[in-house]
Amino acid sequence: ETYLSRLKLTEPQLKSFIHVSNNVLKEAQSIDDKIKRNENVGPLAGVLVGVKDNICTLDMPSTAGSKVLEKYRPPFDATAVKRVKELGAIVVGKTNLDEFGMGSSTEASAFQVTANPWDISRVPGGSSGGSAAAVSARQCVVSLGSDTGGSVRQPASFCGVVGLKPTYGRVSRYGLMAYASSLDVIGCFGSSVADTGILLSAISGHDRLDATSSKHEVPDFTSQFMSAVLLESKPLKGLRVGVIRETLDDGVDSGVKSAILGAVSHLEELGCTLSEVSLPSFSLGLPAYYILASSESSSNLSRYDGVRYGNQAAADELNALYGDSRAKGFGPEVKMRILMGTYGLSAGYYDAYYKRAQQVRTLIKKSFKTALHENDILISPAAPSAAYKIGEKKNDPLAMYAGDIMTVNVNLAGLPALVLPCGLTEGGLAGLPVGLQMIGPAFDEGKLLKVGHIFE
Ligand code: GLN
Repeated sequence: ETYLSRLKLTEPQLKSFIHVSNNVLKEAQSIDDKIKRNENVGPLAGVLVGVKDNICTLDMPSTAGSKVLEKYRPPFDATAVKRVKELGAIVVGKTNLDEFGMGSSTEASAFQVTANPWDISRVPGGSSGGSAAAVSARQCVVSLGSDTGGSVRQPASFCGVVGLKPTYGRVSRYGLMAYASSLDVIGCFGSSVADTGILLSAISGHDRLDATSSKHEVPDFTSQFMSAVLLESKPLKGLRVGVIRETLDDGVDSGVKSAILGAVSHLEELGCTLSEVSLPSFSLGLPAYYILASSESSSNLSRYDGVRYGNQAAADELNALYGDSRAKGFGPEVKMRILMGTYGLSAGYYDAYYKRAQQVRTLIKKSFKTALHENDILISPAAPSAAYKIGEKKNDPLAMYAGDIMTVNVNLAGLPALVLPCGLTEGGLAGLPVGLQMIGPAFDEGKLLKVGHIFE
């Protein structure tokens, strides 16, 4: 009831949710009844979870922020949703996003613009802006998002919450509407590292419904970080932390830089050994990412033809039906990505764009491998700026894309990364949150959670 009344109070200004469930209190009541009957209710009993609207939920809309799926009601739950429900969690609603996850500010939703709870004239980040704002404003306890190029980490940074992008394959993509399949991963938001880790434990693990989901063992993340000895004076003694040089150059806002440098000295106080590392191919990540993500999306989004799902245009001829359904259903950003991707994959340009971007991807993977051999974790800002004003970058796609520079490389390499609040930009109480990104070796989310838990 507390969460629901806060949701009711804040939602008219924030617009984090595309849909709010009517069944929350009923489900909570049935958990109460089970407890009274001494029945097992699961470790997440009654925990309110917000779910990004590109993740399928039974009996609730799942629009991906697109008109093309406006009336779509999936006949199944995504595996991640099924798992949290089985542990007792209650899905409070579906959160707003940039259409199909394509964007960095949540302004590219077909339905509404979400505001940042810290300053409602600013964007919450994106594309999982609704999920980040909902946790930040305590409209729910935790939430699920998706991260193809930073969509969990950058909004976590803008909204001052914890965001975790798991290793590619750690969490099943079954029921996550595909944007760029080789990069997509479902991630977690929480108001603490502990909450975020508990949610990760709930959704991780192999799933036969997703051929790319990993069989890698899932450790008990919670006990890993809960056992961290917080009372020691140097609890992170000996941890080798590499600061990525290319992420603190001139393109980074001074407020972000000073918060990150503050975090660096905090890590030093905790006993970490710091060094500077260089990832020479770092700046190539952005162009490679946008070519690969657009290429994959142009293929993935071909399924929205007006026949199989969602809205269908009135037409008496098949090609017109496809064409009109797509012309009316997709927003401008999605159309631009499909055009770019189709171009990059077309016969005459494939070698120059798609193939070259794949080669860059290999270089980036290799450079992370070397850097993570010499260091236990790598750190950088989660974004080059704090939350900007609504409308500021909406009509300048290149400026918007440039804001993803800190996050896209991690997706190209498939690695896990944790973002946690590390301070505010100057301006006292008027300051805006800044997120620190910690990157770890594949399948070592446990290490990131442990370091993050001690750090916060
Ligand atoms: N902003 C990036 C893009 O538009 C990342 C989005 C995401 O991670 N879903 O592609």
